[in-house]
Amino acid sequence: MRDAVVHQLLQALGSKKVSTDAADLAATSHDTWPVATTWAKLGRHPHAGDVLVRATGEQDVVDVLAIASSASTPVTVRALGSSVTGQPIPVRGGIVLDVSGLPHTCQVDDVDLTVTVSASYNGGALEDELAARGLTLGHSPQSLYRSSVGGWLATLATGQFSSLYGGIEDLVVGYRVVLATGEAIDLRARPRAAMGPDLRQLFLGSEGTLGIITSVTLKVFRAPEVRLVETFAVPTVGAGLAIMREQVQSGLRPFLSRFYDADEARHAMADPDVTTPVMFVGAQGAAGAAALEMSALRRIAEDHGATSLGEAGAGAWMDRRFDFSGVENLLATPGGYAETIEVAHTWRHIEAFYLDLKAALEPLADEVLGHFSHVYPQGTSLYVILLGRATDDEHALDRLTEIWRTAMRVGLENGAELSHHHGGGLARSPYARASLGDAHLLLRKLKGALDPAGILNPGKLGLLD
Ligand SMILES: Cc1cc2nc3c(=O)[nH]c(=O)nc-3n(C[C@H](O)[C@H](O)[C@H](O)COP(=O)(O)OP(=O)(O)OC[C@H]3O[C@@H](n4cnc5c(N)ncnc54)[C@H](O)[C@@H]3O)c2cc1C
Repeated sequence: MRDAVVHQLLQALGSKKVSTDAADLAATSHDTWPVATTWAKLGRHPHAGDVLVRATGEQDVVDVLAIASSASTPVTVRALGSSVTGQPIPVRGGIVLDVSGLPHTCQVDDVDLTVTVSASYNGGALEDELAARGLTLGHSPQSLYRSSVGGWLATLATGQFSSLYGGIEDLVVGYRVVLATGEAIDLRARPRAAMGPDLRQLFLGSEGTLGIITSVTLKVFRAPEVRLVETFAVPTVGAGLAIMREQVQSGLRPFLSRFYDADEARHAMADPDVTTPVMFVGAQGAAGAAALEMSALRRIAEDHGATSLGEAGAGAWMDRRFDFSGVENLLATPGGYAETIEVAHTWRHIEAFYLDLKAALEPLADEVLGHFSHVYPQGTSLYVILLGRATDDEHALDRLTEIWRTAMRVGLENGAELSHHHGGGLARSPYARASLGDAHLLLRKLKGALDPAGILNPGKLGLLD
């Protein structure tokens, strides 16, 4: 079966795009999920594909899907591999379809304020090109420079300035997607459409299980005239959550709203002597309007007992906001492990959930840090970072497994959303049914309708093969 598929791929696409080289298959058998990077450290590749195809155009995607469908061979799409939950890991082998080489096209419409790019476009490269024209995406994940635009849609990504701009679901105008059955479909709403359901939502967060996105149109925004930031020392976690809630529910739209518990505040401020929780707040726009908004944000913070520390802490964080080296350096040391888990809950329940989650995770790492960084009128995300050192990498792997099991259990017990933006992947696939409840039936029906042979990224989102 495998040889026949490889033969057909070679015939259709040519030898430059098709590889069965062991090093290529090993390199595409893991992503940036700490469990997978630890496998790689141990020289293990438990989930390698059988053949790697490097697509250089939409027709390649169509050809691969036609061959895979007729042979019922799995196809796992991979873009820049920055997933931290094992999303592009080909757990059932088959074809790994690398879409990072789709031709890089970029069209800016400065009347309608949109940009249309190939799905493979690197987010940071796009933001830099837009900045040169006085524009911005508004979407700024920490992985901006190591993730693709198509990847953002496929994972329902969100960025550091989401309290103003929203998540990727708020920023998408339209996109083009190739179905498992080979049809290429354009989905769009310009600026809004009510002709039936908003079908653009279908593939957002689908993690390569329902279709393959080839090009994307996003909103863009004029760069703000000014950005103001301020740092606050906050007496307690409860006070910080009350500040964030009041700020977002009063209609203020800070572009930056991040609140760190005392454990993470030391890292956020790059100062080991910090002992209280810390909040970073930012307002942007026309100069006078931003200053007014900042004074309203400050008043709310001070009403809840926060004290301004000036702009330095938040300003320094803005300069190093894409830096992930703390986690990466620890992961690179023998026995070192680090994990990031993001969840969400309503304002009513978030503090109790935070306390439960921290208490349950504390025995599993040397440091358990917590912050809240994506706020909505109805609730907030909670992001937990775990840092530890085990006796060796094998034990580190055991720890990571236990961390996931514990975090997902506590999330379910608290009725929380099990992922805020990193998605399901291999890490959360076993919990997808429990997390979605009845809605998982809808996902299974959609999967059956759009991918009847079940070839796209099998083994994810709790979808059975
Ligand atoms: C340091 C670091 C910081 C991060 N910070 C953030 C953050 O702030 N916010 C956030 O949301 N995420 C963050 N992430 C997670 C990650 O960057 C995002 O999930 C990103 O959207 C993945 O994009 P990618 O191009 O790397 O996709 P990949 O990792 O290659 O793939 C991810 C998933 O999307 C699917 N996919 C990729 N491209 C396509 C396509 N064209 N069509 C269909 N399916 C596709 C794959 O099959 C896979 O299931 C971070 C990751 C790292 C390592």
